[in-house]
Amino acid sequence: MALSVKFGGVKTSYYAVEGKDLKTILASMMKKGPKEGGKRLPALTVTPIKGNLKFAVKFEKDKKKGYVAKVTVSGGSVIYSGAIKMPKLKSDKALSKKAKAEWKRFSAKLLDHEKEHVARAAKETKKIVKELAVLTLEAKGKTKKDALKAAQKAMISKVKESYADDKLRKRLLAIHESFDKESDHGVKQGAKLDTSIK
Ligand SMILES: [Zn+2]
Repeated sequence: MALSVKFGGVKTSYYAVEGKDLKTILASMMKKGPKEGGKRLPALTVTPIKGNLKFAVKFEKDKKKGYVAKVTVSGGSVIYSGAIKMPKLKSDKALSKKAKAEWKRFSAKLLDHEKEHVARAAKETKKIVKELAVLTLEAKGKTKKDALKAAQKAMISKVKESYADDKLRKRLLAIHESFDKESDHGVKQGAKLDTSIK
């Protein structure tokens, strides 16, 4: 079986916010919202990722003498998932009809933004799998055993350098950071609460 992308699903959890109008609700979000880099946000998505790789080896006779071992990623999977944290209004009873509608609109846009983080993680995970699928490390040795040992060492160091779990996490984090920069954390996509609505 070839290396595959696996999706562990998305979990959405909520934190409670309250207020008598949109202005106080916004303040409540900024006080209780999830933290990222010391800054509170109205919502946050994290996308855990984990690689589980299987390797194969092929031997060829070297032109001069000895053997060449070629190690490739032959199977296993790279698994990603999503965890979204969203605000939930304790009660909207104090809000006007217009304010209720604005909260609803904002919440939907915010969720769209968070879901796009998961979609971007999916795209990057597919890219990672494509890279791994064509990764070949080879080494020479006097015997098959020597060649294999050297090729395995090269593969292990390559995986550690670019595809270890913490490297994959960092790579996804960079994707999320750039998306947040480009969208201003969803504000440019409409995820901004209009507190002027009374
Ligand atoms: Zn974001």
